[in-house]
Amino acid sequence: MIRLEFCGAVGEVTGSGCLVHAPAATVLVDFGVFQGGADARERSASLGPVRADRLDAVVLTHAHIDHCGRLPLLAAAGYAGPVFATPATLDLAALLLADLGRIQEADLARENRRRRSAGLPPLQALFGAADVERVRDCGRALPYGQARRIAPGITARLTEAGHILGSASVELAVEEGGTRRVLVFSGDIGPCGAPILRDPVPPAAADLVVMESTYGARDRPPQAGTVARFREILAEAVRSHARIVIPAFAVGRTQLLLFYIAEAIREGAIPPLPVFLDSPMATAATLAYARHQELYDEELGGLVRTGQIRHDLQSLRVVESVEESRSLNDRRGACVIISAAGMCEAGRVVHHLRHTLWRENAHVILPGYMAPGTLGRALADGAPQVDIFGEPVVVRATVHHLSGFSAHAGQGELLDWLDGVAPQGPRLVLTHGDDEARTVLRERIHERHGILAECPGPGSVVTLP
Ligand SMILES: [Zn+2]
Ligand SMILES: [Zn+2]
Repeated sequence: MIRLEFCGAVGEVTGSGCLVHAPAATVLVDFGVFQGGADARERSASLGPVRADRLDAVVLTHAHIDHCGRLPLLAAAGYAGPVFATPATLDLAALLLADLGRIQEADLARENRRRRSAGLPPLQALFGAADVERVRDCGRALPYGQARRIAPGITARLTEAGHILGSASVELAVEEGGTRRVLVFSGDIGPCGAPILRDPVPPAAADLVVMESTYGARDRPPQAGTVARFREILAEAVRSHARIVIPAFAVGRTQLLLFYIAEAIREGAIPPLPVFLDSPMATAATLAYARHQELYDEELGGLVRTGQIRHDLQSLRVVESVEESRSLNDRRGACVIISAAGMCEAGRVVHHLRHTLWRENAHVILPGYMAPGTLGRALADGAPQVDIFGEPVVVRATVHHLSGFSAHAGQGELLDWLDGVAPQGPRLVLTHGDDEARTVLRERIHERHGILAECPGPGSVVTLP
């Protein structure tokens, strides 16, 4: 018998983790933090059903922290076994986990200052830098397509998921007394035809599929319209000698925007205007993308081989020091400043917004989802004034909210992903989506493939006899 226990991302999109109890071993697929909501921190501090001393191996689908952010916690609890992932995922996860550690430290220091003045005892850190390093030392590279025995009776193979660099779907083959059963975990499935990465590779055979459902209720907005709008804003800024500030996620979104800027320059839609990459995280992530050119799709592979992309991005400058970053405040003329964090809550981008929002001749592009309660959301909602570092800042710049750059497959692409495996009638479990998304996708799957998917909740167990 095989038993699956879900540690998160059931009825929501964060906190991914699935514990696979096979007859001879226990394996964990992903172990991410919860994000958003008042109790996210508390839930992220829990190992849930995972026992560090009863775990044989961990496999990661990709490096987003809602898929790997609880691993330092597991290391702090004594886990020292292997963590299998693609080399690119190990690279990016090391970066993102170190960053998570720094954010956690800063948050904790702030919270403890507050507690001290309120006469309360200080909170302890959930994990330290040493635990992040321990996770990194546990990393075992498993390139796409290679089958590897990862625990007694369990073989793993990773396939392209097209979501971020190194992202994978996980296939686990479980052997028990002469029978072999295949479990597939989709991970986050990327869109088809997007630049930089290859398209996701759907499964060909499975007894059970655990599948994400982020965009289960709708198709994502077409990327072509978003890209056209992005180009128009760039051209307008060039004409009016305006600056553009773009708060972008460091991994994936930043590289996609650089790709589209390069394309606009190459095709003559805009002249090569100065582009500043001003975020240590985004720079490190972009270097990780550059280290893994073997994962690029055909188009970008060609542009790299011929030196074209380097030529297109001649005007790209990586901003290193804080002084250099500050000097951008006084810059005149058209330019693009790409900076983290994605929802404008922290990092150098907050300073850039403070020095840009009040200007009439300036643009701010929000290239994705902005969670409620964030500065990014206030700007997306058209707030005439916002608070930055406790001071009011009037919004005179033009704010554009572009939502078509998603790294997730839309409903139609999710249904297509199942085409190859559906005729075998596998058990199907939907995760990683809010309840509406899961319910709608479940109906569509039933109509098209005749399979009734299961929708587990927190603490649910799925058994395969
Ligand atoms: Zn993801
Ligand atoms: Zn995810």
